[in-house]
Amino acid sequence: MVSERIKKLNPYVPGEQPKDRPYIKLNANENPYPPSPLVKKAVKAAAKKYPQKMALYPDPDSTELKKAIASMLNQCGGVLARTQVSGGKKNGSGAKTEPSPADRLPFTVTPDMIFTGNGSDEVLSFVFYAFFDSNRELILPEHTYSFYPVYAGFYDIPLKKVPLKEDWTLDREKMLALAKEKNSSIIFANPNAPTSLGLTREEIRSMLKEAPKDRIFVVDEAYVDFGGESSLPLLAEFKNLVIVRTFSKSMCGAGLRLGYVVASPELIDCITTVKNSFNHFPVDFMTQQAGIASCSDTGYYAECAKTVAFERDEFIDFLRKNGWYVLDSQTNFVFCKKDGLSGDEAYKKIKEKGILVRHFSTKGIEDYLRITIGTREQMAALCSVMEKL
Ligand SMILES: *Cc1c(COP(=O)(O)O)cnc(C)c1O
Repeated sequence: MVSERIKKLNPYVPGEQPKDRPYIKLNANENPYPPSPLVKKAVKAAAKKYPQKMALYPDPDSTELKKAIASMLNQCGGVLARTQVSGGKKNGSGAKTEPSPADRLPFTVTPDMIFTGNGSDEVLSFVFYAFFDSNRELILPEHTYSFYPVYAGFYDIPLKKVPLKEDWTLDREKMLALAKEKNSSIIFANPNAPTSLGLTREEIRSMLKEAPKDRIFVVDEAYVDFGGESSLPLLAEFKNLVIVRTFSKSMCGAGLRLGYVVASPELIDCITTVKNSFNHFPVDFMTQQAGIASCSDTGYYAECAKTVAFERDEFIDFLRKNGWYVLDSQTNFVFCKKDGLSGDEAYKKIKEKGILVRHFSTKGIEDYLRITIGTREQMAALCSVMEKL
């Protein structure tokens, strides 16, 4: 009864969400803080003032939302944890951000450079469909976001996985050599997951200079707001650069399902063609309202990102003092292991105490845990469990 195609699918497995007891959830890199108070207000106001809008199809182009995203990027430069925050109310709401001098954009992002979708996962699937073919290998690191291979399988795109270097950084030389040899596209997350390490903008610029100019180069910036370097300024120089971002991590909105692409208007048009061949309305009316309100409160999200980064650095100190090996992190999670303790055993012992962390059984990273940074209280609870392991 089922198609031949479905037999070949190999679906992504997200962080578990068991219901048998209340767990402290540190396994999906969600933000522990709620969205800005302005988001709650906007959603309530929309439901009250425009209930009839819910009976109508939403704006298929998210016009106002794209304007709001463009203006947010121009205002914060693209890395919340490195911005200056000023003004606003006591709870941080309404505060404005100034980009750090290093993150100031050398051009103005315009709404026609933005594509919005139902989470960056959906956005990524459109990017795969729009730019990668089944007759050419796509180059990616061996350990990176594990949804990429799932989409490659779905769309029948062959992959060339490049092992990470011994220090867990991307093997840029190898990736470039292969991309040049095969005239291929490259995709990776920066900062990368699950390693939490990022490349500098200069490192990415030097990759883009050498990579094939007629092939798309995708940088997934899901975690950049926690302290990475954004490649947004490079859009001025490289027409083949596609940057994917999400409201799920630094914007405290995983439940809203909102992701976006920043790229040249020509590339955005291609992705829009894919969307219009699949689902005209991936971003619903309420999410458009919530997204617009989010973009107006960069000060709030910058404070959240800074708090997460602070807790992360304290947690890394704690782990190192307790004999764990931990990579440096530019994200809202850490990647760590302890000698003599298997990743699976550590995961199970932590779960017994009511805390979920992520363990991958993938070869090469099976000894490691990926742990999301939560609130101060959640991290204290986790530390008291991990101290005894
Ligand atoms: C979380 C994550 C995503 C998915 O984000 P959604 O917008 O929630 O779909 C994409 N890429 C990376 C690297 C992620 O970690």
